[in-house]
Amino acid sequence: MSERNDARLDGLRALVVGGGIGGLTLALALALRGARVRVLEQAGAIAEVGAGLQISPNGAVVLRALGLEEALVAAGAVRGRAVQLCDHHGREVTRLDLTRQGGAYYQVHRADLIGVLEAGARAAGVEIELGAEVADVADGSEPVVTLAGGGERRADLVIGADGVHSRLRAVLNGTEAPFFTGHVAWRAVIPNDLGLGPVSRVHMGPGRHVVSYPLRGESLINVVAVEERRGWVAESWSQRDEPANLRAAFADFGAPVQEMLARVETCHLWGLFRHEVARNWHGEGVALLGDAAHPTLPFMAQGAVMAIEDAWVLADALARADHLRAGLAAYRQRRFARVQRVVNTATDNAWKYHMKFPPLRFVAHNVLRLSGKVRPDMMLRQFDWLYGHDVTAG
Ligand SMILES: Cc1cc2nc3c(=O)[nH]c(=O)nc-3n(C[C@H](O)[C@H](O)[C@H](O)COP(=O)(O)OP(=O)(O)OC[C@H]3O[C@@H](n4cnc5c(N)ncnc54)[C@H](O)[C@@H]3O)c2cc1C
Repeated sequence: MSERNDARLDGLRALVVGGGIGGLTLALALALRGARVRVLEQAGAIAEVGAGLQISPNGAVVLRALGLEEALVAAGAVRGRAVQLCDHHGREVTRLDLTRQGGAYYQVHRADLIGVLEAGARAAGVEIELGAEVADVADGSEPVVTLAGGGERRADLVIGADGVHSRLRAVLNGTEAPFFTGHVAWRAVIPNDLGLGPVSRVHMGPGRHVVSYPLRGESLINVVAVEERRGWVAESWSQRDEPANLRAAFADFGAPVQEMLARVETCHLWGLFRHEVARNWHGEGVALLGDAAHPTLPFMAQGAVMAIEDAWVLADALARADHLRAGLAAYRQRRFARVQRVVNTATDNAWKYHMKFPPLRFVAHNVLRLSGKVRPDMMLRQFDWLYGHDVTAG
């Protein structure tokens, strides 16, 4: 593993709340710089829903710098070669050739990524405490974490990587409920007996779209189907749903989507919730990371990638700073504008994918089609600010 070189975090006692993608990446990044790290995870096991994740080059560079890329590929991560945008009948609108872009674009099963991160973190000395639900945190020079089941934990720094319904966000920003964005997403994994190659496909229809891409050595396909909805009434923000409901919602989509949905045997339905990007990212000894600070719609596939970038930058900023508070301030300073831009771009993509007015959709798809033919490089270059950014470059 690289980046063991900075001694400035030696002896720092860090508690990471949340053993998701952001929390485990941070735990590893801190431990590699000499910190003593413990992860507090509420679940009884480090586990993940059966779903896929796209890790764009800006996230892949961090996993590489943390020494995990080989393990990720060994775990079956597929290297994506293109993004194909289609209308809902299945006709190609345009295609972005990712091999011309530089950088690795991985499609990975969430459980595989979590497994790789957990193994890396444990090997670097991180302790993971399971069944440890954090009820509250008192900020200060030695912040104190109170566990829901009783007991306290103390550290020099507590980081809330506890997701969109973060408790620690409330400690720093007051109570604000996340808002329902008017979108729900079904997620399912199906066998790839359709022989689909390493391409990410987006089928765009009125008020709905379907994203699909292969996982685990191309043996599986991840399907995310998004629909606009007025409300979300379930108490939980994710629930099991009947595949028949998913098929009914996309019944007017063409054969490529029908073929995939016909293979869905189990699926989950998620209400997509968001907060504004948090104003306060840190206090004296408490900080936020990932969805806890800036949940985003999944329409740029950047939520987990931003958490991964945050993790690197937070460890780096702390290691470079003279004292903790300066490191935390530098972290927010280095991250805020970028995550705000990502969140805004993802929100904009919702209406671009979901155009309902047929003439507008026709024109927009033709503009895309033409741009893809005449200026394919320009189509790719418009995302250089996102995918070409390397937080590990210093
Ligand atoms: C449909 C869909 C598709 C997506 N696709 C992509 C994609 O392709 N690429 C991408 O980059 N992102 C994608 N995302 C976004 C991504 O899933 C999230 O942004 C990412 O998981 C956030 O990581 P996190 O570590 O911040 O939070 P989480 O993954 O939510 O992890 C939070 C962890 O904290 C734990 N926790 C919570 N509260 C407590 C507590 N009080 N005490 C202890 N532990 C606690 C939880 O159990 C959990 O393990 C998608 C999201 C959705 C909904």
